[in-house]
Amino acid sequence: MWTPLCAIVFLVVIVSPLAETSSIRRRKSIRLQLSDYLSYDGVMSYLDRLAIAHSDRVTLKEVGRSYENRALKLVMITNGDGRQGKRVIFLDAALHAREWMTPAAALYAINKLVVEFEENAHLLADFDWHIMPLVNPDGYEYSRSKDRYWRNTRTPNGGGCFGTNLNRNFEVGWAEGFPELKDPCDENYAGNEPFSEVESRTVRDIMHSLVESERAVMYLSLHTANRSVFYPWVYESTPVPNQGEHDEIAKYVADQIFQSTGTVIKPRQAAQYSGTFGGTSMDYAYKVGFPLSFVFEMSGTGGDHVEYKFFPPTWDIRRLADESWTGIRAFGEKVIEIYPPSRQLKPSQIQRLTGSASRNWGLSSMVGTTTLLLVYFTNNFVSH
Ligand SMILES: [Zn+2]
Repeated sequence: MWTPLCAIVFLVVIVSPLAETSSIRRRKSIRLQLSDYLSYDGVMSYLDRLAIAHSDRVTLKEVGRSYENRALKLVMITNGDGRQGKRVIFLDAALHAREWMTPAAALYAINKLVVEFEENAHLLADFDWHIMPLVNPDGYEYSRSKDRYWRNTRTPNGGGCFGTNLNRNFEVGWAEGFPELKDPCDENYAGNEPFSEVESRTVRDIMHSLVESERAVMYLSLHTANRSVFYPWVYESTPVPNQGEHDEIAKYVADQIFQSTGTVIKPRQAAQYSGTFGGTSMDYAYKVGFPLSFVFEMSGTGGDHVEYKFFPPTWDIRRLADESWTGIRAFGEKVIEIYPPSRQLKPSQIQRLTGSASRNWGLSSMVGTTTLLLVYFTNNFVSH
């Protein structure tokens, strides 16, 4: 017969260990699938399960919807100590749809920072990591199912042509550089105006919010497969004021990867390598006030030394993701060393962007510049 005492004993002896076991099981079930490239649904499902199992250290936020109405998700990772307003490393991936290893590497980094937290706790002591593993889900799914070399979004441009190159759609030297940027049928199409794409606007808004809250330290965008670490500028050839810091970090990352795997990654100021062109997220992040901004062009070379470029074989995903993590961790370690909490960041550098707008930008970007001015003035007038 049940008595209250029996019930308590039952709860303590039976239910409590069961609950514990199920919580451990739930955590253990968060295994990142690396035997194949994950679909959009696979990525979302992994993130949902991770956020539930590690709710003390992970916040998953839907920051927008793609043109075809897929969720754009941002993973915000802390060490769970409750300290608000820490500096942030903002990492994104898959602006370019066909670069399949980039969302895999971003998820691998998330897994390292969350599931393997103990080994990487030093990367989260004074910094939070905000990671957007799939910026262009429409293009990614199109690349997976219809045309694997697809690079852009899936917005219709008229005339039977589709898609804008997200890494040409940002408002810094927009559509300047070469004629294909203005061709709606070309994979370099910059869009019909700066930030024409909801996906680039979403990334822009995250950048602005981090800069305005004085948390923005490094923007790191994953691409494949050039085996380079690029730093600004791309839209003009002059060096940025802290080129030395960028170069030091890029060289450190390249060294760490070389020592670990033998893969040669080249540190380069982007314009010196590729010539000047506008519209990149890296230049934009630096322009609005991230003191550090990089593109990490990961390797697409297989363990069998074959150059697979965008589509390494599935048996090599884990090794390449691990090599990329060596680089991403090196970025984190160096940035934490160079930007300790005692080093002051410049406040609200969006003002700097608007101040330099008339000098650096052509008339073609006046509309977008006005938008930015409005953002700046709205934010300042409201808060003062
Ligand atoms: Zn790319």
